[in-house]
Amino acid sequence: MVPGIHRPAAVYVDLSAIKQNIEQELNHLEPGQKLFAVIKANAYGHGAVKVAQLAAKNGVSGFCVAILDEALELRRAGITQPILVLGVTPEEYVTLAAKNDISLTVPDFEWLNAADQELNNTGLQLKIHLAVDSGMGRIGFSEDEEFLQANDFLLDNPHFEVEGLFTHFASADSSDDTYFKTQVERFEHLKSLLKVKPKWIHVDNTAASIYGKRVHSDLVRFGIGLYGLNPSSNPSTPDLPAQIRLKPALSLESELVQVHTIHKGQGVGYGSTYIADCDQIIGTIPLGYADGFIRKFQGFKIQVGNEYCPIVGRICMDQLMVRLPYEMPTKTKVILISNDPTAPNNIKAAADYVDSIHYEVACLLDDRLPRIYREG
Ligand SMILES: *Cc1c(COP(=O)(O)O)cnc(C)c1O
Repeated sequence: MVPGIHRPAAVYVDLSAIKQNIEQELNHLEPGQKLFAVIKANAYGHGAVKVAQLAAKNGVSGFCVAILDEALELRRAGITQPILVLGVTPEEYVTLAAKNDISLTVPDFEWLNAADQELNNTGLQLKIHLAVDSGMGRIGFSEDEEFLQANDFLLDNPHFEVEGLFTHFASADSSDDTYFKTQVERFEHLKSLLKVKPKWIHVDNTAASIYGKRVHSDLVRFGIGLYGLNPSSNPSTPDLPAQIRLKPALSLESELVQVHTIHKGQGVGYGSTYIADCDQIIGTIPLGYADGFIRKFQGFKIQVGNEYCPIVGRICMDQLMVRLPYEMPTKTKVILISNDPTAPNNIKAAADYVDSIHYEVACLLDDRLPRIYREG
């Protein structure tokens, strides 16, 4: 994918906002607790290498990614802090991970056994984090017996360094903490069965940390908060109050490339789903669903100059149209998604509009949109 650097459309990332979010969270940690920045999926669309470099300089102790390639990208960029791959890595790549000092997640005993065989006679040692499925139903140990089997297997096993034990919450962003509590109990139970001694035990994501639910642990896996977004983001439900000040970092910006008048009866876009009922001024913006700005945004009001204007007609692959209240010059600035949380087109409002969550809206923004970094 080639980034479109010769068109006026880009994702802007305010690095000073990310820095402030890190500072806020560092001040919020328990004494001795560490902060790991979760920068999977290209740092939730913000650009993994740039965010990692900034975070590494500002007190973050390590990183979490989803897949091995994301970890390798960080190593190639010179990141030296611990990096944990949160997903399941096929066992044939464990030597690649070990050679690059990348820590992998152990989902079950079968994986551990296969990884052990891969490491035979390599002289390599792999850093691992044991995952506990305490109720997310995704990956990790959930049965006592299998967990104990893995522990016995790891005792004095030279192929592995047990760096971590962790679990992940399904509903830390909910005001009802019934299920959250059952997860904590289940995790504490498996933890009590440990025979190996992990260096770090970790449970908190952003929500568990900033809503004051924190369970005692050695580090926080801080994802969405890093980008200044409040994790309680079920579509159209109000956010829970965060205990730290979050400053959104991302905006999606473009320009008008054409402005023209259409007459009563003329349509806009594929299928002519929008028909002008009078003479109207239409502005064209050079990005579309191929950039991750999905068709469901049809009708959403975005900022053009000083006005909020509705997207009319279907969003095309590479272009979209807005109805302007008055003639504006081409090159007028357009903000499709604002980093101002009070703006009507902030990312939470955008996510609500398409019945989604801001995690998804940010991640969908495609690599064709260059990431441009601002210092505030
Ligand atoms: C994505 C992820 C996180 C970060 O979650 P946020 O809600 O973005 O803070 C933490 N832990 C695991 C296992 C994850 O997959």
